[in-house]
Amino acid sequence: MIIQLDKNISTTALAELKHNLEAIQYKYNPVTTQFQDYLVAIGKTDFDIRKIGQLEGVKDIHRVSDGYKLVSKKWKVQDTVIDLGDAVKIGTGHFSIMAGPCSIENEAQIEDTVAHLVKNNIKIMRGGVYKPRSSPYSFRGLGIDGLKLFYKHCRANGIKIITEVMQVSQIEPMLDYVDILQVGARNSLNFNLLDALGQVDKPVLLKRGISGTIEELLSAAEYIFSNGNERIMLCERGIRSFEKSYRNTLDLNAIPILKAKSHLPVIVDPSHGIGIRKHVEAMSLAGIMAGADGLIVEVHSQPEKAFSDGQQTLNFMEAERLYQRSLQTFDLREQL
Ligand code: PEP
Ligand code: MN
Repeated sequence: MIIQLDKNISTTALAELKHNLEAIQYKYNPVTTQFQDYLVAIGKTDFDIRKIGQLEGVKDIHRVSDGYKLVSKKWKVQDTVIDLGDAVKIGTGHFSIMAGPCSIENEAQIEDTVAHLVKNNIKIMRGGVYKPRSSPYSFRGLGIDGLKLFYKHCRANGIKIITEVMQVSQIEPMLDYVDILQVGARNSLNFNLLDALGQVDKPVLLKRGISGTIEELLSAAEYIFSNGNERIMLCERGIRSFEKSYRNTLDLNAIPILKAKSHLPVIVDPSHGIGIRKHVEAMSLAGIMAGADGLIVEVHSQPEKAFSDGQQTLNFMEAERLYQRSLQTFDLREQL
């Protein structure tokens, strides 16, 4: 059960509410986010919800029986739209494209990409400075110095930044230089990291785990929300299956299911999803038709020279065609 509290609930009213919950053997967890105060109450006893709903200081009350609650659409019917400022919004009704290289490599690459994004009116640049790599001998990113360069060029050109954070100690130093913190597939169940990201006021893009279920993804998002951060987006990036003819199985089914179960924006990552450059466009458009609120896609001026994931990275010409077709597809979907 989710109980939304009045912002200025009195101590006596709060004590009375807690007393009522204890009387029906419900355990309660206080949650304070950047927007609202809640009690998330857990219990099994049958009771009259109106009785709690009528108590002083209770703004709203909802029964949610799933393991994940605050991210569920069962209590928040209106979809979450994340406002990044400067009229950049992510969520239902606003189609977002986040594009850029897998890894930030050097200043010239950042400049080339920023110019390409500006030309195409793309407002969010992706690029990893901390890279989770299967082999420890592969390029692992430029770290915080790379992020500062990334920031310098993006800020000068009105572009927002999304980049991956791999561990708790990286969060604080990154905060001044990012607009969205990405949790990668390998960290999707890193509960310490999720807890910590719940305590910062920066939007988080949470990727589905390599073999994560939809329920695990939503529960991971619940960790972030229940620690105080409501600004979360979910990302379908493909799951590992028995199939070997492509990198991952992009689970298009997950998109409408996530949209139905949660009020959070859903982003599709076709680059990691299929992992093959020439098929990235088809899977992007399919993801949009399936209901995605946005796209995160890898692009590079010379994909064949990219430090990581070149095989799935679009060149600028391919990317331009993708942006146009994505927007057309989104418009078509909205008209259907
Ligand atoms: C990435 O976005 O480059 C990345 C490493 O993604 P994932 O965590 O989905 O593999
Ligand atoms: Mn990548």
